Formats: sequence, C-alpha cells, structure tokens
Amino acid sequence: MANSGLLGPYPLEEKYIVRFVTKSADRSSASVFALGKITNKKFVIKKVCHADGDLSMVLKGYMGTYEAFRFRFYRSTRSAFNKQCQLYHQFSPSDNLEHPTRPINTRFTCPDPSCILSG
Ligand SMILES: [Zn+2]
Repeated sequence: MANSGLLGPYPLEEKYIVRFVTKSADRSSASVFALGKITNKKFVIKKVCHADGDLSMVLKGYMGTYEAFRFRFYRSTRSAFNKQCQLYHQFSPSDNLEHPTRPINTRFTCPDPSCILSG
C-alpha cells in the first residue's frame, strides 16, 4: 500500500491509537482510515472507511478484529470522501462489500471517472 497517502501502518492497539490519532496535531473531524494486517512487513488492506467525528473511538471499535491501521485527517468531508473512494477503487479491499456511501446531506460524487457514482 505504498501509494495510499495514509499515515502508518500502526498496530491496532490502544496505545498506538492514543499516540498517533488522539494526540495528533492535525486532528480533525474528517478522516479516512484503512484496516488490515501486516504480512511480510507490508500492510495488506482489508477495509477502507471514513470517520465523521472521533476517529480514536471508531478505531477502538475495530480492535480485536483487525491487526493494523493507517489513517489520515482531512480538512473537509469532501476531501475525505474523495480519498475513501480513490482507495476503494485502487485496492478493492476484500471487506468493503459496497462502494463508499456519500456523506449524509451531500450530493458528493465519486472522483473515479469510470465509476457509476461519478458525476
Ligand atoms: Zn466510485
């Protein structure tokens, strides 16, 4: 996942969530994160998601289910949605059963021109 543009990977454990997410200077309410495992020192993405609000809490909910995570904060919900869509199309994570849904009360379209949800 060399070109994902996300920070990490970090083990999905409370101390790493606190150190890198909760205490991040860039903390914002819009974020994208990837969940997966480390195989041969490489992060294998299984799922890509976004969080509106407290990313630390959301990540803690996945502890025990996934081994590792990557993440990044974004200035806007729009930027986060674009990134989530891009990663979804780039990696086709096995645990993403459906295309990312646009945030509530928005008409955002997918940035991937080949996608049926693109503008
Ligand atoms: Zn799409």
